[in-house]
Amino acid sequence: MKHVRHAIVGLGIAGATLAWRLKMRGESVALIDDPQPNSSSRVAAGLITPFTGQRFALTPRWDEFWPAAESFYRQVEDITQTSLFTAAPAVRIFNQQEFDDIAAARLAQHPELLRRIDPPAGLGQPGDIAVELRIAGRVDVPAYLAATQEYFSAHDEYYEAKIEADKGVQLAALELKCDRLIFCTGCYAPPAEFAWLPLQPAKGELLTVELPGLDLSQIIHRNVWLSPLGLQSNNADRFQVGATFDRDNLDLLPTVEARDELLAKLAQVTSQPPQIIKQCVGLRPIVRGRQPVAIPSRNDDGSWIFTGLGSKGCLLAPFLAEGFAAHLTTGSPLDRDLQLRGAR
Ligand SMILES: Cc1cc2nc3c(=O)[nH]c(=O)nc-3n(C[C@H](O)[C@H](O)[C@H](O)COP(=O)(O)OP(=O)(O)OC[C@H]3O[C@@H](n4cnc5c(N)ncnc54)[C@H](O)[C@@H]3O)c2cc1C
Repeated sequence: MKHVRHAIVGLGIAGATLAWRLKMRGESVALIDDPQPNSSSRVAAGLITPFTGQRFALTPRWDEFWPAAESFYRQVEDITQTSLFTAAPAVRIFNQQEFDDIAAARLAQHPELLRRIDPPAGLGQPGDIAVELRIAGRVDVPAYLAATQEYFSAHDEYYEAKIEADKGVQLAALELKCDRLIFCTGCYAPPAEFAWLPLQPAKGELLTVELPGLDLSQIIHRNVWLSPLGLQSNNADRFQVGATFDRDNLDLLPTVEARDELLAKLAQVTSQPPQIIKQCVGLRPIVRGRQPVAIPSRNDDGSWIFTGLGSKGCLLAPFLAEGFAAHLTTGSPLDRDLQLRGAR
């Protein structure tokens, strides 16, 4: 029977990143996944953006999260000899009113991150104003997960299996023993000891479309984002458009409402009619209070849960997984952002 220090359940952004962080510290790791095509990570667009939402708010701790993310993905690229990360400015388009109400103040506060530019030719509406997000990026999440799986498989550290939460943990069937078992299972049913965790997922839908001849090398945001897939592959005419946010309907079926919402918002960015190639659906793992968490089992049996990355897994995971790995291996205090706030 093989013995490892850490068995990680779930090959999504959380599990993959924690596995790498532990491995980079010289720890022995097993990565176990029951691959689900609709897992949040398998549909994620991989965008990393400093300012988000209607309020165009700066993500707290951006100055810590971004450098950790950039250097982490570059390190994984080096180890796996793959290309999975692009750092490039993005553009957000505002109408005059939105610019005056929200963006002008942000520009004045953060000239190192933002600058006013001309709107990209042919995009937006007459009179619109564009702001460049000078530092932004995109992770090719499918490539990241595939490279991770390939690397850990090649080292006999990847297992394809479903860990049945209600039947206890059947690592023996995998001929595996571990000191710690860490559930990075997104918003899939956690094991009984973590059933109390207030998971409040949000459904997200996105479209892959073709817009022939639209010459765009940047990611554009305007109530919706438009991300050129040609940045990472040879799909010059293909773009992703997303994403919706729905807390009520939590099935994994694509909806006409989401498609129409995305198309209507896309029409504010480009008047060119898109051809829809596919529509994807996933559930973002969100913990009440919108916080990521790393929590040990109350039974003190060595099991943990690491989840709650919400809409920003690609940005948050490298920094938080490093802090979590440091806590597990050296006993350093757990990062404040990973400690569950409020009563259990
Ligand atoms: C439409 C959409 C667009 C998004 N776009 C972005 C974006 O642009 N940028 C960004 O940063 N984030 C984005 N996100 C959010 C991002 O996807 C999440 O933050 C991230 O994927 C969460 O990763 P995770 O590893 O916690 O969960 P998951 O991706 O759900 O991974 C969990 C894994 O655990 C496995 N698993 C579950 N239960 C078991 C079990 N019992 N046994 C074995 N394996 C199990 C699952 O199969 C899965 O592989 C988007 C999300 C959606 C839905």
